[in-house]
Formats: sequence, structure tokens, C-alpha cells
Amino acid sequence: MTFVPANEGIAQLKPYQPGKPISELERELGITDIVKLASNENPLGCSDKVKEAVAAELAEIGRYPDGGGFILKDQIHSQFGFEHNQITLGNGSNDLLEIFARAFVSEHDSVVYSQHAFAVYGLVTQAIGAQAIEVPAKGFSHDLPAMAAAIQEHTKLVFIANPNNPTGTWFEEAEFEAFMQKVPAHVVVVLDEAYVEYFPENFNSLKFLKQYPNLIVSRTMSKCYGLAALRVGFALASVEVTDFLNRIRQPFNVNHLAMVAAVAALKDEAFIEESRLVNKAGMAQLEAGFNALGLSYVPSRANFILVDVQADPAQTFNALLKEGVIVRPVGIANHLRVSIGTEAENAKFLAALAKVLGLEAKA
Ligand SMILES: *Cc1c(COP(=O)(O)O)cnc(C)c1O
Repeated sequence: MTFVPANEGIAQLKPYQPGKPISELERELGITDIVKLASNENPLGCSDKVKEAVAAELAEIGRYPDGGGFILKDQIHSQFGFEHNQITLGNGSNDLLEIFARAFVSEHDSVVYSQHAFAVYGLVTQAIGAQAIEVPAKGFSHDLPAMAAAIQEHTKLVFIANPNNPTGTWFEEAEFEAFMQKVPAHVVVVLDEAYVEYFPENFNSLKFLKQYPNLIVSRTMSKCYGLAALRVGFALASVEVTDFLNRIRQPFNVNHLAMVAAVAALKDEAFIEESRLVNKAGMAQLEAGFNALGLSYVPSRANFILVDVQADPAQTFNALLKEGVIVRPVGIANHLRVSIGTEAENAKFLAALAKVLGLEAKA
């Protein structure tokens, strides 16, 4: 007899595949000196101020964290100007993405998102047993007019990433505004801004929150802020939407050290500025490297870039592993996603890529 779970969606679900951890490759190959450019982490790690702040709070581990997240909400308030009752904290923004779906979507509803978007949108939709409406991408970008047109009567949620992962593509404010005007008021739109810190001149999402009570802006501390291991994200939305999100949030979903770290990270603007500069230089280095190898890539406004390796991505990924470089196949033919690293990491990756593809760099 086979066990039949109640929820069809979960029975069909293929779990999220995280980037390969360095420790795993070390065990497999018995080598050290591995470069991981697979999960869009900050190659600088985190701010020293974060390490000091966490160290100073270690004695507090025995107590439950503040379930209301006061200190972190206060910092978010002073930096972004939203009240505590417009902020939802998450155990990473992945936690929030699931909370959004559970708060607004039932199995009779549908969720709209783009082809080549963040894999978790499909997973949280499927876990509920709701219908996924995946709208074909335009090139590698979200096709916002087509996404608006794809909204059905039973659609409750739309997921949008700007910039998008894994493609690095982006859209401008006017395109988003035109999209929001077409979305019915009962449909919640999630604008996932996991990479917004890298090119902040691109887009001011926060002004739209005042205009659209059905909009949620989702941010993470995992990427530019360098706190991926600690798991912190936050969502900004109207008081009404935030109230629903906080009803189903686990009471202690963000731990104390993570909140302390997040406050210190948000305050350290110099670290963010430095991270941005390292990213811009690394992006230019990789683009130049790809050009010299005759490889094309998708222009990106994030901390990673999608490169056309003109070869099977899984084979190229495996060959790169043997060179001690971890990148990420993302289910797009001929393409690999590579996170921007330090100058030395990028150089090691480019040399390994040339070697495994049998290419020679032309000046
Ligand atoms: C990395 C990423 C996230 C979430 O990361 P967390 O570590 O869970 O905060 C969310 N959305 C996108 C598009 C991402 O790339």
C-alpha cells in the first residue's frame, strides 16, 4: 500500500535545490581552496560591526527572542520610514514568501509569476495546492503587461522579482506603475527586492506602498548585508496586509542574534557602499572576461550574472566543480548563473571556465 498524502501539490513537489556547500565539495574531492559563486552571498562576508554586536549578545541565548521584533522594527522604521504595524519580519525572506502565500491563497485560487523567476514562488504555490500561472518571460525578463493580462478571477497573488533571480534582469518604475494600475485591488502583489541594495538608483519601490494597499515589498538581509546564515528578511506593506501576515507568522520566527545582527548591518552604510563597489568592479571583470572568451551574458543589476556557456550547463557545472569552483545551473539551456566574487575569486572562475570549455581569452 502506498501512503497517499492529503495534499496533491506536496506529493508532486520537487524540493528547492540549494547551492552546493563548500564543505560538501571539500569532502567529495578532498581539496581545499574552493571558490563558491553559487548562492549570491556577499563575498566580503558581513560587516565587522555585525560580528561585534552578535558577540556582545551571546549571553542572551538562553532566553526567547522578542517575538515582536522591536529593535529591528525600530531600525527599519528610522531607515525606511514605515511604522511597526507595516513591518513583518521573516526567518529569511523565504519564510516571508511562504507566509504571503499562506495568508492570501487557498487551493481553489491561483498565483501568477514569471517563467525564469525565483524557484520558491512555484514551491510555495504548489505546497498549498493552488494553481500556478507561469507567464512566459520576454527574453529573460518579466513580461509585466502579459503578467497583468494573465490575472484571473481566482488569482490572489502575483510574485515579481526586481531585479530577477536567476536572470539579473530588471524593469523601470514606469513599467511597474503601469502594471499596478492594471491589477485588481483584491490581488496582492509581492515585489521581491532581494538585490535592491546593489543598484538603488534603479527603482524606488517604497513610494508605491503609499499608493497601493495591495502591494508588499519584500527585502532580505542575506545578500548585500551578508547575513545569509542568520536568516532575516522583512516585508513592508499596508497596515491591513501586515496584520494578516503577522497572524500566521510563527511567534519567534526571527532569533535574537539574527535581529541584533540585522540592526548592526542596517546601520553600517559604509559596508553596503563597499559591497556595492566590489560588486560593480566584479561585474565589470566578469563581463570583460566573458567578452574575451567570446561568451554572451544577460546584463544584470544584481550580484550575479547569467552566462551563455554554449555547452550543457550540468556538464560544465560538474567540470567546474573539479576545478574547485561552484556555480549554479538554473534550468536555463546553455546558461550558468555565477555570483560576483572578489577579484581573486572571479579570476579563478574565469580561468577555470576557459579551461573546461577549451577556450582561449582574446584581448
Ligand atoms: C536569495 C533570494 C531570496 C531570499 O533569501 P533569504 O535568504 O530567504 O532571505 C528571495 N528572493 C530572491 C529573488 C532571492 O534571490
